[in-house]
Amino acid sequence: MQSEKINLKGLSLNELNDLVIELKEKQFKARQLFKWIYQKGLSDFEQMTDLSKELRGKLKQVAFIDEIRKIKSIKSEDQSTEKFLFELEDKERIESVLIRERDRITICVSTQAGCPLACTFCATGEMRFKRNLSAGEIVDQLIQIKKYLKEKEKITHIVIMGMGEPLLNYENTLKAIKIMHSELGLGFAARKITLSTSGIVPRIFQLAEEGLKIKLAISLNASNDKIRNILMPINKKYPIKELLKAAKFYAQKTDQRMTFEYVLIADINDSKKDALELAKLVQGIPCKINLIAYNKVSELLFEKPDEKKVVEFRDILYPRCPAVTIRKSKGEEIQAACGQLRAKM
Ligand code: SAH
Ligand code: SF4
Repeated sequence: MQSEKINLKGLSLNELNDLVIELKEKQFKARQLFKWIYQKGLSDFEQMTDLSKELRGKLKQVAFIDEIRKIKSIKSEDQSTEKFLFELEDKERIESVLIRERDRITICVSTQAGCPLACTFCATGEMRFKRNLSAGEIVDQLIQIKKYLKEKEKITHIVIMGMGEPLLNYENTLKAIKIMHSELGLGFAARKITLSTSGIVPRIFQLAEEGLKIKLAISLNASNDKIRNILMPINKKYPIKELLKAAKFYAQKTDQRMTFEYVLIADINDSKKDALELAKLVQGIPCKINLIAYNKVSELLFEKPDEKKVVEFRDILYPRCPAVTIRKSKGEEIQAACGQLRAKM
């Protein structure tokens, strides 16, 4: 039955405008509806008290508001990180992660079930591609997880770094970002939203032109094409030189510093030579380098370098590069850390 009705979750304000006009209602009702769906996270029209009874009745006839279903969640030992497993309408499963730190609460959202890019070190890549998420399914991860926050808690940052490659699901991801950003929607400033990509070059150029100014993180992970081709096969299509051109363009166009993520994998990309090569590579690009020690994925052969090696790598990079950070991995023991998401708990 429901499939004949329209799912309102994921619709933009313009699309809701069209719907209320079709229902012969005043346009401002769309704004009220938009707020109920995204700000309040409601999916029952009856609870939308400032809509007339008549409109609620009409909406029930033609529309519904879908929700992704939480199957399970697990917390890290120190309680700071929580991983949520959700089931979608067609039974596909995705994961989202909530990370509590001293002055911020970050949610990491997925954009695809699985990932088509099959980076050789990543658990999501290993599970292969199932399908793109709809804009509603992307936004709903936030709406649902908000329900599990404690009273005074508030999500402060969104990172689009969960399962999947967001720029291969461009339209839906962009639509979801606009809802996250909208004052009437979830109200996040653009600088609080970061999208991480493996480097889909034409889409980086396109994103730069959207006028959105969200933060961009590029998963570089190697300082030359030879190693990057092995770690991230997409590099054969969009090699480092092309990727850096796009990165530069994004930084210029949005007037911000980009982040390069670099996962350090023992004996693969963590040598002194790699660090020097990396420093040279990013010269002239306003950027920050975020080092992440590899999180172990069972079945995959890669290993994490020891901590000393990570610090040594950082010390070679800095001060050759203007800003270098070591990302403290969160939730590794519950397989909620970067690259460990595979929709199994
Ligand atoms: N597809 C996008 C976003 C999701 S992956 C991208 O690749 O950027 C998010 C980040 O996790 C990427 O920077 C990726 O390099 C990193 N990652 C993947 N597997 C990892 C692992 N096992 N340990 C640490 N980081 C990993
Ligand atoms: Fe996909 Fe990103 Fe994992 Fe590569 S690192 S397989 S692009 S999720």
